[in-house]
Amino acid sequence: MKSVGVIGSGFSGLATASVLAREGYHVTVYEKNEVPGGRARKFEHEGFVFDMGPSWYWMPDVFERFFNAFEKSTSDFYSLTRLDPSYRIYYGKNDYLDVPAGVEALCDMFEGIEKGSSAKLRQFLAEGKYKYDVGINDLVYKPGLSLSEFMDINLFKGVFRLHVFQSISTYVRKFFKNPRLIQLLEFPVLFVGATPSKTPALYSLMNYADMSLGTWYPQGGVFKIVEGMVKLATYLGADIKLNTAVDRLELNAINIKGVWSGNKFYKHDYIVASADYHHVEQTLLPQKFRRYDEKYWQHRTMAPSSLIFYLGLNKKVKNILHHTLFFDKDFTSHAHEIYEDPRWPSAPQFYISCPSKTDSSVAPEGCENLMILIPVAAGLTDEEGIRDKYFNLVIDRLENITGESILNHIVFKRSYAHNDFIRDYNAFKGNAYGLANTLRQTANLRPSILNKKVKNLFYTGQLTVPGPGVPPSIISGQVVAQELVKRDQNQNTKS
Ligand SMILES: Cc1cc2nc3c(=O)[nH]c(=O)nc-3n(C[C@H](O)[C@H](O)[C@H](O)COP(=O)(O)OP(=O)(O)OC[C@H]3O[C@@H](n4cnc5c(N)ncnc54)[C@H](O)[C@@H]3O)c2cc1C
Repeated sequence: MKSVGVIGSGFSGLATASVLAREGYHVTVYEKNEVPGGRARKFEHEGFVFDMGPSWYWMPDVFERFFNAFEKSTSDFYSLTRLDPSYRIYYGKNDYLDVPAGVEALCDMFEGIEKGSSAKLRQFLAEGKYKYDVGINDLVYKPGLSLSEFMDINLFKGVFRLHVFQSISTYVRKFFKNPRLIQLLEFPVLFVGATPSKTPALYSLMNYADMSLGTWYPQGGVFKIVEGMVKLATYLGADIKLNTAVDRLELNAINIKGVWSGNKFYKHDYIVASADYHHVEQTLLPQKFRRYDEKYWQHRTMAPSSLIFYLGLNKKVKNILHHTLFFDKDFTSHAHEIYEDPRWPSAPQFYISCPSKTDSSVAPEGCENLMILIPVAAGLTDEEGIRDKYFNLVIDRLENITGESILNHIVFKRSYAHNDFIRDYNAFKGNAYGLANTLRQTANLRPSILNKKVKNLFYTGQLTVPGPGVPPSIISGQVVAQELVKRDQNQNTKS
């Protein structure tokens, strides 16, 4: 039985661990934190249960497909509720849009805002469905190692329908004129980590995911997915060691021999690094074995970081939904301050997750659980005073827009930003969402899952293929495990 050490227990690490354990490898997962799940950890405080990272459950088919590969279903681990409305967008005081679940209701909403737009929405979503089907079935499960992976004749024939070479910003404007509809259709690409003008229109597949496949919630919280994946990996035989940071990799001339954690050495035949790629290369590997140098990393476009406030309130809040987006300030200038001219935003848009609207188990009775998230550039100076400034700013806006008193009802508050991402996850520049999926950082153009200089080292996670987000991270773990198995079997055949 060959042994594999997996560094990190985020979604990619847990997915990889399950596939490899099923294939008969002896798998050990090393996780520096005391809770598994990486950026999707949770913490609790006096009856409040906070999911620390992801809150949007999109692409339910990807989760289902993952568990099905082990003859299980998501329903073996958690139960899903479809949110309706999917989310609310505020444009100002008493000025909001509740985005309903289901295409028919969405068409009615579009028609009410822009005459003739419902037929266009149907066409837009049909094109999005084509991209989603091709993307999910033919593109994202590729290891991104050779262009020949994309030489499939059907893929080739349909390449122009994927709109890879135009921006989503241009594409959306061919269908719709109303600024609110444009903004509604541009917001999901923020999940892939770049501005709409720099993101290929291929990503209108995200609109299909949003509007046709829907926004779901795992009862008990997003951490239920982590618990399910931990259960599965453990059941398949993987050993998950928490509170065990890998400090360095031990190598001979061309291979890793194992990992060091403190003064303990663990021998392995293969390593899959699911911790942030930059950390693994620049900190755990000796310089001569690094695939990319520091200059390479400094020229990458990182997806945003976030300034987050986890709040427990001792009352219910009337005017927000489970997901509420505050688009009352200009998105173009906020996006510019994230991507083009990285700086703390002058007037940020922000987002609130309030899972206690759907789930009574995440807050004490009569209370509300809020996560306020401001997307900000990676690599900014993170100081207490700055966090306080933005806290006051968003609470003022929240109180003003919702007409609710919030500040006087806060019974718990914790903030989280760049310094925490670096301390907790070894995140390059304190990124939250990894490496952006711009045209120049898509598929084979992303950091590779292989290290040419070290044969038994593989990389997975949101900085490699296919990219940021929970579904892509799970896919990344599956793809890398399959590549490892394939290469191991080839080597066995040769020797
Ligand atoms: C605030 C926030 C909100 C988000 N919202 C959404 C959302 O709504 N929907 C969505 O789909 N996605 C969302 N995402 C993105 C999603 O959470 C990530 O893409 C995904 O969780 C990344 O998984 P990963 O396995 O690549 O990395 P990680 O989760 O970072 O896992 C890597 C693991 O490696 C560990 N590690 C690091 N260094 C070492 C070491 N030396 N030794 C041992 N262990 C180490 C870390 O502790 C971590 O547990 C969000 C992310 C954040 C931060």
